[in-house]
Amino acid sequence: MTLPRVHVQARAAEAVRQGHPWIFASQIHTWEFEPKPGALVEVLGPQSRCVGFAYANPRTTLALRMLYTPSAGQRGPDGVPEERTELFRKLDRARSRRQEYNWDTDAFRLVWSEADGLPGLVVDCFGDRVVAQFLTAGMEARKALVLEWLVSRLKPRGVFERSEGVGRSREGLQPVRQWLYPASPAEELNPPAVISEGPLRFWVDVVGGQKTGFYLDQRAARRCLQGRAFSGNVLDCFAYTGGFSLSALQAGASRAVAVDSSARALETLRANAELNGLGSRVQPIRAKVFDFLTQAAQRGEKYGLVILDPPAFTRSREHRERALAGLRDLHSRAGLVLEPGGYLLTCSCSHHVASKDLLHAAISGLRRIGRSLKVKSQFGPDADHPEIMQVPESRYLACVFAQVGP
Ligand code: SAH
Repeated sequence: MTLPRVHVQARAAEAVRQGHPWIFASQIHTWEFEPKPGALVEVLGPQSRCVGFAYANPRTTLALRMLYTPSAGQRGPDGVPEERTELFRKLDRARSRRQEYNWDTDAFRLVWSEADGLPGLVVDCFGDRVVAQFLTAGMEARKALVLEWLVSRLKPRGVFERSEGVGRSREGLQPVRQWLYPASPAEELNPPAVISEGPLRFWVDVVGGQKTGFYLDQRAARRCLQGRAFSGNVLDCFAYTGGFSLSALQAGASRAVAVDSSARALETLRANAELNGLGSRVQPIRAKVFDFLTQAAQRGEKYGLVILDPPAFTRSREHRERALAGLRDLHSRAGLVLEPGGYLLTCSCSHHVASKDLLHAAISGLRRIGRSLKVKSQFGPDADHPEIMQVPESRYLACVFAQVGP
């Protein structure tokens, strides 16, 4: 077997040598012959020197995603990397990286795409259930190998596939939600499962919940709340299933008002509060956050801690200014219901809004209503969502914990 070969520009070859995982269609000189979407190709730089092996999708602008280095340990007799051995090696490495930490939880991200050298693959573990996302044609083509590893190494009760999102349709793939393992899943795998995180337990609906069921990437922010002592009332805006509400209550807050527009999320939030014996201290409210904040301010409500964790205000650079204006407005409204000296946990999950943009939006939104902000800590996701230094886009989540002056 010979691999299709593709010649790329010197700059792209150098970027790959430095660890960049992508090559765009515009950086390609020639395809020696056009590969099928997802096929492995040999990537050649100046003087036709091999810079590594990628999987290709000639239909997308992000045409090549690097998978193996030129020295990829295990090669067959024809010089082509042995994919099973190489993929398993990467998956083993991703797993042992996670085992270096003690997150005190059975819920964590095991594989995070390019950051684990496995572009297009996301694997989240929720106790004995695993959720996998195959987001590119390249990973779709390697699904059987990945599944073989998941089942043999992790010995899960079930593996659920949630391959969805715009990225996948750009790759020419349909969205898929299905149990991959066992082949004919027992009905009892469908209802939500319970995970534990520190002192709390949560219901996680891997089949019907948002994303893969739970916002694993906010663990550091939940821990930030759990590590403090609160006494007053909390307003959890964009609460989903209550990760922040319950963390604040566990840290001593007396009552949490949890606002979300999704009835389904709030149902799970209520169940989560019951599961932790906190049911009487949570008030779920189905509303749009902007409207709720305006009305709460009119009613004169005040909270000692306000949490803002909205969905991405923008997914594209061109709408950045509008997103920042929206964020400023959100912070002005939140400031109106914050007690003097109250705390603010604010987050942004768009890589077009960097942590300094979020901070500026918070400062200027609060200044508009005459209030100041003192930063206590700034952070992103835990180490189960590593960033790639060469890819600024991988830095997508920013959180600021601050105290708001009178
Ligand atoms: N804080 C949550 C995650 C929030 S994700 C956690 O840590 O688990 C964003 C949430 O905002 C989703 O649950 C979504 O249903 C909700 N949402 C989106 N737009 C909204 C709006 N305008 N008003 C209220 N909730 C909204």
